[in-house]
Amino acid sequence: MEKTVAIAKCEQYDKDMLKTVVQQQFDSLQISKDFFAGKRVVVKPNLLARREPEKAVTTHPAVALAVIELLISYGAQVTVAESPAGVYTEHALREAYKASGFMEEAEKAGAVFNYDISSRDVSAPEGIACKGFHMITPVCEADIVVDLCKLKTHSLTKMTCGVKNLFGVVPGTEKVEMHARFSNSTVFAQMLLDLCETIYRQKPVITVCDAILAMEGEGPGTGTPRRLNALLSSKSPYALDLACCELIGFGNTIEMLELAKKRGLCPESAKGLTVIGTPIEELAVRDFVEPKSQKMSRLIRMIPPFMKPRPVINQKVCVGCGQCARSCPEKTITLENKKAFINRKNCIRCFCCQELCPYKAVEIKRSIIFEKLVK
Ligand code: SF4
Ligand code: SF4
Repeated sequence: MEKTVAIAKCEQYDKDMLKTVVQQQFDSLQISKDFFAGKRVVVKPNLLARREPEKAVTTHPAVALAVIELLISYGAQVTVAESPAGVYTEHALREAYKASGFMEEAEKAGAVFNYDISSRDVSAPEGIACKGFHMITPVCEADIVVDLCKLKTHSLTKMTCGVKNLFGVVPGTEKVEMHARFSNSTVFAQMLLDLCETIYRQKPVITVCDAILAMEGEGPGTGTPRRLNALLSSKSPYALDLACCELIGFGNTIEMLELAKKRGLCPESAKGLTVIGTPIEELAVRDFVEPKSQKMSRLIRMIPPFMKPRPVINQKVCVGCGQCARSCPEKTITLENKKAFINRKNCIRCFCCQELCPYKAVEIKRSIIFEKLVK
């Protein structure tokens, strides 16, 4: 089991400084220049939505550029590939890359951006929840994957980092279908591990995490930026996620990590990690705000249906862009006169609509009794 994580205190998004830091981290992890030379390397950032870097929704362009330029200087053939939320079309990819803030400079440095919207079937015979995946072609063809994730809270998985970032290798709206297929949170977490293991068994996955400006609260799309000043690298996405979980004080509450421990993919606790660089305690915070949906999900199992929180569209804020309808796994959102409407009967309370609404028009409605229970 790989359990080494390199951690560095970084207070600024300075590309050249970050490049030096990543190089030092790779050296300390014994990831050499030769490891990358001549290899097809796919860099998979988190480009969830078109937001400014200071919103902390996406991997910061300075981190992406630092990694891309370093890999190119090592002789790697770098392709940037991502399947963001929504449809997987050439146009959608172009828009996501343009909004990333690093496209122009990365292309100048020699990186190629993927516009191939094909995908392949990849079997996962050892998967526990899922025995096969559709994956975007560049990831299937790569020799090495660099998982360039952002540390954020997540309304469904509580935290998104290295493992969850790889869910973005599933093309476009198929992710929505998978939310419906794996609607139970435990099964969804098992599926994420199956997906990560399927890639990891076939090729090296190097994870680099931008936790300089992380996101707390209602992540991954509408939370609050929170400075953690940390950049992390590891050969194991599980070890890196465990370190990040410790960094934000979430203990043993991340279901996906608890399942990873049971599968023997990471140590039982962060004490079992080998940390190179800045100790976790030096950067750790104890008041990182968890998504409200997490407190909710613990209670949801115990309360009757009429008291359960549910998504509600704020009609005054909704602009009718349709992102929520396209993302709803139960197809229970309709658009009428440029406004979205939810059919409550079929809603499974996955909160994907709240996660992905770019206008914060989806609110979570809770009964007064429920609010008191949550407090
Ligand atoms: S609720 Fe949000 S995502 Fe849905 S149509 Fe309205 S603005 Fe768009
Ligand atoms: S309406 Fe929202 S919470 Fe309900 S099933 Fe659709 S995406 Fe999930």
